[in-house]
Amino acid sequence: MTAGRYAPSPTSALHLGNLRTAVVAWLMARGTGRRFWLRIEDLDVARVAAAGPVAEGQLADLAALGLDFDPPVMWQSARLDAYQAAAGLLSDRLYECFCTRREIAEAASAPHDGFRPYPGTCRGLSEAEREQRRRSRPPALRIRADAATCTVTDIWAGEVSGLVDDFVVRRNDGVWAYNFAVVVDDLAQGVDQVIRGDDLLSSAPRQAWLTQQLGGEPPRYGHVPLAVNRAGTRLAKRDGAVTLADLAARGVTADQVLSMLAASLALAAPGEPVTAAELLRRWDPARLPRAPWLVDG
Ligand code: GLU
Repeated sequence: MTAGRYAPSPTSALHLGNLRTAVVAWLMARGTGRRFWLRIEDLDVARVAAAGPVAEGQLADLAALGLDFDPPVMWQSARLDAYQAAAGLLSDRLYECFCTRREIAEAASAPHDGFRPYPGTCRGLSEAEREQRRRSRPPALRIRADAATCTVTDIWAGEVSGLVDDFVVRRNDGVWAYNFAVVVDDLAQGVDQVIRGDDLLSSAPRQAWLTQQLGGEPPRYGHVPLAVNRAGTRLAKRDGAVTLADLAARGVTADQVLSMLAASLALAAPGEPVTAAELLRRWDPARLPRAPWLVDG
């Protein structure tokens, strides 16, 4: 089985940039005869609860654009046993970390690939030291990566190599970390094609490395340039009418939004009515515009 997926975080309604990435993920999966899963990244229960019932609206918005998914929808919050089991397989490499963000920032380590690798402070603690620290702070769990480097293949960015540091697998509030859960789920769902926003390109080497640690083969990645506002920064809800609901309130239909997204992907002329099925006929990954998409809301 081969599959792609779209994995939104249900913390706010999908904006035009998210919807455009979903369209590309759907085109890539369906255009190659793959299954296409929808996975709701709702592990951070407190954040998700604070956002209200967002996921249902995300499902409705994706359907309104004509994107179809293979059932069932996967909810990460229902997969805690799977994360626990995967962590069990890696137990030799996992260790408790008591560092605060500040301590990590203060520990000397040079930036690398745009991030500061975890300096390894808690890697060598003795059981007695851990026992003592547990009294003042619950631990996060990190994975010992031995400063591996990993190279991934991205459909648009080509070969991308990155350092793998001892990243967090479970946060100190008990929530499984995104970088861990995403890999466990992609393996469980047979995902061999990962299409998402290019803000996650730098996470791909760690995720590919973790996939190998769990005995899997890393997927083929495709990171889509983000949507940006007039200031050139990543599009956000505050940038104006950027969700289907905002646009509907201005009289813009979902069909018109699909047409707008298609034009931004160089798959339609501005204002040309299109359907998702028609876009599938026109789709060619080589034509994906490589620059960020400017949304002038
Ligand atoms: N939940 C992430 C997002 O909304 C995507 C994660 C992924 O596709 O790996 O940006």
